[in-house]
Amino acid sequence: MSFSNIKVTKSTSDRVKSYDFENIKFGKTFSDHMFMADYIDGQWTNLEILPTQPLSMHPGNMALHYGQALFEGMKATKSQDGTPLLFRLDKYVTRINASSKRLCMPELPSEVFLNGLRELVTLDQAWIPPQSGSALYVRPFMFAMDNHIGVRPSFTYKFMIITLPAGPYYARPVSLRVEPNYIRAAVGGVGEAKAAGNYAAAMYPTKLAHEAGYDQILWLDANEHKYIQEVGTMNIFFVVGDKVITPATDGAILKGITRESLITICKDKGIEVEERPISIDEIIEAHKKGELKECFGSGTAAVIAKVNKMGYKDQDYMLDDHFPVANMLKETIDGIRAGVIEDKYGWMEKLPILTSV
Ligand SMILES: *Cc1c(COP(=O)(O)O)cnc(C)c1O
Repeated sequence: MSFSNIKVTKSTSDRVKSYDFENIKFGKTFSDHMFMADYIDGQWTNLEILPTQPLSMHPGNMALHYGQALFEGMKATKSQDGTPLLFRLDKYVTRINASSKRLCMPELPSEVFLNGLRELVTLDQAWIPPQSGSALYVRPFMFAMDNHIGVRPSFTYKFMIITLPAGPYYARPVSLRVEPNYIRAAVGGVGEAKAAGNYAAAMYPTKLAHEAGYDQILWLDANEHKYIQEVGTMNIFFVVGDKVITPATDGAILKGITRESLITICKDKGIEVEERPISIDEIIEAHKKGELKECFGSGTAAVIAKVNKMGYKDQDYMLDDHFPVANMLKETIDGIRAGVIEDKYGWMEKLPILTSV
């Protein structure tokens, strides 16, 4: 089976046979293979799948010095009969190219991304965990490859995909600190791009939030410190009264694919959704009136993270441990991804089952 002109070197490892899928520690165990392609002389070339292994690079690599590096995060799941499934591929292709444009990196043709992804996940399908809610996390990324000191865009790049098993996120609810001083992104900046540097910039304020006893930061806008943006690597939703509200994507907020999927599901279920600017004062006011029913983050990794506490100006606002909307949304997305809820939106793509593994 081959999707295109990808050179494949198979691993001889049988690590997957002894891997404990009941006890996944996310982030450290990588599947057997990785995909790579090089951008040289204005062309994507050297498409290759090979055993996951270290790269060697020159110390003058421009990505290390000037930060031309971006990534994506996706999930591969399995249906009940073992068919590997991929979610909303078109959206991830569009977004990686929006990120690369903003960072002055080359466009990635969808067939390089998608054929590499399809062939890699098909080959490593034994690494897709079987339980609903768990997945094979897929990390596509691109970075500069010129060896050059002096700020300019690189002429050469590498695009890669690696994958890692991820367990079901039975995550406990998280606490958020409404960040009083630092910002994540400003309109006109790179907040809409999954630029590696955005995450480095958030680490110090996040460390301060941890020291103050919170799990993550709820970011406010850069101009007025008034309007809610998002959380860490998640978009944010509130249920106020019987409405779902979420900040409109204004150029500083990452356009989450989970966010968009949740909005679609809500509307389909007859739940009213508003995308608009939301001030922190509005949320505190709704809490005081008893109208703030739920707060949750959305992103590919957790799907949904429930929020049970928000710290703002030296005061903690607690939320009920009762999340009917968040639970319904998570069950729906997980169900579609596990092939047990009808995919009426056409979000899933099936990959062939390999019988020889
Ligand atoms: C990836 C990410 C999200 C979530 O996007 P999804 O497409 O739902 O995974 C939200 N915010 C930030 C900053 C992110 O990096």
